[in-house]
Amino acid sequence: AKYEGRNRFSYFTHSLQEAAQTRLKLIKDLRVALAANQFRVFFQPILDLSTGCIHKAEALLRWEHPQRGMISPMEFIPLAEETGLIIEIGNWVFRESALWAKRWAVQGREDFQVSVNVSPVQFRDEGNHIDTWLTYLQTLELSGKNIVVEITEGLLLHADSGVIDKLLKFRDADIQVAIDDFGTGYSSLSYLKKFHIDYLKIDQSFIHNLETDPSDMALSEAIIVMAHKLGLQVIAEGVETAGHRQLLAAAGCDYAQGYLFSMPVPPEELETLLHSGFA
Ligand code: C2E
Ligand code: CA
Ligand code: CA
Ligand code: CA
Repeated sequence: AKYEGRNRFSYFTHSLQEAAQTRLKLIKDLRVALAANQFRVFFQPILDLSTGCIHKAEALLRWEHPQRGMISPMEFIPLAEETGLIIEIGNWVFRESALWAKRWAVQGREDFQVSVNVSPVQFRDEGNHIDTWLTYLQTLELSGKNIVVEITEGLLLHADSGVIDKLLKFRDADIQVAIDDFGTGYSSLSYLKKFHIDYLKIDQSFIHNLETDPSDMALSEAIIVMAHKLGLQVIAEGVETAGHRQLLAAAGCDYAQGYLFSMPVPPEELETLLHSGFA
């Protein structure tokens, strides 16, 4: 038994080592991915539930790894955050998103918004990236109204002057702010009155069992009522069934995104959806 135990132990340390090596290799690859043009921004449509029209799209980063194929952002975004690479990658995502938003505005979609995920690491960085973003919008002659930034609750709970400063800059530029994964992070809601927020995004974990779990339905309804009383709009994410859509519409939810409507798709495909007037 002792012998077996030792074997198991060495197997265990071996796999730990392997995991560490995979991680280091991935970080190494991540450092060259931007220059090697391995990133793509995909877009997932966000529908206006009252009209059924596509009103916005969320920009979601994709990494086409030369050996491993598509790697999920859930795997590489944390590494990008740890290493600080998220700054450069995030600047690129913003520029790409703004370029597409400009293109769609020129095509007659003047109210269309592109929603960009911004990491707390980007907010806490000392660099003047936000100023560069705003200059970029000016160069493009694109209004901030066409951009939404998605932030996390945690950021607002520990907002120092640097974070507040950046939020004010977004606001002055008419860029909208959405709280992503709303309801999953913290129990305090006081930040909702302290900061200027435009949207709450109900996390998909609340939507998943909407049809079968009355408490998830109650929570979603409560979020919608509270948001509307505070003058905010609500986006539900992870909408997968016609039942989800119907319950959310009945509860007064403003917008929805999810596999029911479309997966995240390459920009050219989103453009086709926009032109086909898909509902
Ligand atoms: P998120 O911001 O909460 O994005 C929503 C995730 O849910 C996306 O996963 C999307 O593909 C997925 N999703 C959409 N509809 C459905 C649905 O109906 N059902 C289910 N089960 N899932 C759905 P994705 O693209 O893998 O992104 C994962 C996370 O990675 C994002 O979560 C976000 O936190 C992060 N991320 C992605 N792109 C960026 C980026 O450019 N910058 C930063 N900082 N983070 C990003
Ligand atoms: Ca998001
Ligand atoms: Ca989310
Ligand atoms: Ca999420």
